Amino acid sequence: MSEFDLIKRYFTNIGGNQFVRLGIGDDAAITTIPEYHELVTTVDTLVADVHFYSDTAPELIGHKALAVNLSDLAAMAATPAWFTLSLSLPAKDEDWLRGFSKGIASLARLYDIALVGGDTVKGPLCITIQACGLVEKGKALLRSGAQAGDAIYVTGELGDASLALSLIKDENRSLSDLGELLEQLHKPLPRVKQGLLLNGLATSAIDISDGLVADLSHILNASNVGGELILDSIPISDKARSVADEDGLLDKALYGGDDYELCFTVPQANEDALLNLMDEQGYKIYRIGHVVADSGVLGIDGNGNTKILSAVGYDHFADVSS
Ligand code: ADP
Ligand code: MG
Repeated sequence: MSEFDLIKRYFTNIGGNQFVRLGIGDDAAITTIPEYHELVTTVDTLVADVHFYSDTAPELIGHKALAVNLSDLAAMAATPAWFTLSLSLPAKDEDWLRGFSKGIASLARLYDIALVGGDTVKGPLCITIQACGLVEKGKALLRSGAQAGDAIYVTGELGDASLALSLIKDENRSLSDLGELLEQLHKPLPRVKQGLLLNGLATSAIDISDGLVADLSHILNASNVGGELILDSIPISDKARSVADEDGLLDKALYGGDDYELCFTVPQANEDALLNLMDEQGYKIYRIGHVVADSGVLGIDGNGNTKILSAVGYDHFADVSS
């Protein structure tokens, strides 16, 4: 099969929408930005054996490659519009491509985002997706808007993905009872709808990819404020509690990566409105602390003891020099 036939078979007709004037097939795509809107752009690269195991089911790889980008759009309160896909493949493996394309297509359709183009080359397995979203002019949610007194919220339970990853690495551990945890690691659902509801009510947002404390710190630093987390209120899933010791779970929730929940700040005056809105749509959000004037992140336990939490998120280059 020629390269173009291959692209045609596996990558055309994924998530078309009204913004796309010309999709795959020409030298470049043409899209339209509605009046009074701005374009929000993000890109993420997933490298085999760095970001995922190369023997992971291709459907899950496709899902995740798009999910991490949608999660960034969600954190900006943007409506997903279109994306491009750059693929480096070791071989023309049609089974792999079929699965990969299925993983991407089902998520793309769920959020109505259109694949408008890309590039396909031979090389080590590596996937880059660039995604664009739309927001009304000036309405995107930034990291820099948090104010002392705002409440800090997250959109879901934390630590499941990182727990799943550590259990996978334990060769003596059967994985048969881990269903929901593995799902959270391999098939995170980006909080796009929740992100859109934050518009006009939240003051800042970020998606949690490197761990709650690390990513919350990005908000706090960008906003020149600090935060206090009520440790007993950090949401941890029943599933996690049922398969692991309580001890490590809070650490996983605070520092583990790959959650893809949103963390955001809300002025007290807007909390009720936001809670009602989320509730109407059936979305849970969890209040985990509040913003303070002094910098840093402080954890407060059930006995009122405090400790400084330091941001030790995953850093790709951290161990290169050591
Ligand atoms: P060019 O050589 O002009 O850059 P290509 O032959 O690379 O064009 O691609 C032909 C068409 O297929 C273009 O519209 C391009 O965007 C699209 N395309 C190529 N690879 C992919 C891919 N992995 N996913 C989606 N579209 C792709
Ligand atoms: Mg060309």
